[in-house]
Amino acid sequence: MRYEGNIFRPFSEADSYLLQCTIGCSHNACTFCGMYKDKKYRVRSMSEILEDIRLAGNYYRDAEKVFLCDGDAIAIETDALLEILRALYATFPSLRHVGSYVGPQSTLGKSPQELGALRKAGLTKAYIGVETGDDALLKKVKKGAGYDEMLKAGRLLVEAGINLSAMVLLGLAGPGEPSRRHALATALIINEMKPRYLAALTVTPVPGTVLYRQVQKGEFQLLDPFETLAEMKMIFENITMDDLKFVGTHASNYLPVTGTLQKDKRKMIALVDQVLSSRDQARLRPDSLRGL
Ligand code: SF4
Repeated sequence: MRYEGNIFRPFSEADSYLLQCTIGCSHNACTFCGMYKDKKYRVRSMSEILEDIRLAGNYYRDAEKVFLCDGDAIAIETDALLEILRALYATFPSLRHVGSYVGPQSTLGKSPQELGALRKAGLTKAYIGVETGDDALLKKVKKGAGYDEMLKAGRLLVEAGINLSAMVLLGLAGPGEPSRRHALATALIINEMKPRYLAALTVTPVPGTVLYRQVQKGEFQLLDPFETLAEMKMIFENITMDDLKFVGTHASNYLPVTGTLQKDKRKMIALVDQVLSSRDQARLRPDSLRGL
């Protein structure tokens, strides 16, 4: 199909038809993110989007899943999104899932009624980059939303019945006390937001980003692999909500861990403890195989 620039999608959307609705991210300011640095944000014209859907219909008639690219498709006006969803479901008879990344401010720009209408029209899954629950850290990394706004955005999506996946970043605060604060506040915001999925990624400095420059200048210290695991363990220990699917298989992570909290909590913590006590590098994903 027709794409502009690099295309990103969550791991779980690997078998989705990727429909590029916006170019880039409406926020594009997070200090750690290099995904859309090469793009100036704009919404594609409806005629282009509909033409793409028509073309895709010739190739992927049996598509069951669609992911709306790029970084924040929910920023599109609600009426336009509804038109896109109608066209998708009319073109792909087996379609059962439409997912999108969602920015907190773009989500807050929609009313509960608009989000409900989007869910009813078939927007089934949203991926929100929570990154951390630490209010000061959210500001420091220029996320564009503090704790309260992030929580409100997540809750609006959950209340609209949209299957929510929250993404958090291990190592975002650096080592020591900031890491502890980050872990505790992250568990807290997840407990309050109640997404269905929690995906953890590990901070990986990307050339061209503010964070990369901070690391180069010695202004930001990355966690070592075992500090990263200890931070992840602290998040597990402090998650109290039930039936939360934790997805820790992202390629940036040192140790792939998955499971459902609370059901698998002891097993997940025991696995991390084993690696922490052995300090066996061989049990970690080597840096050469890590990536974003
Ligand atoms: S909102 Fe998401 S895509 Fe946009 S700059 Fe931040 S991390 Fe990157």
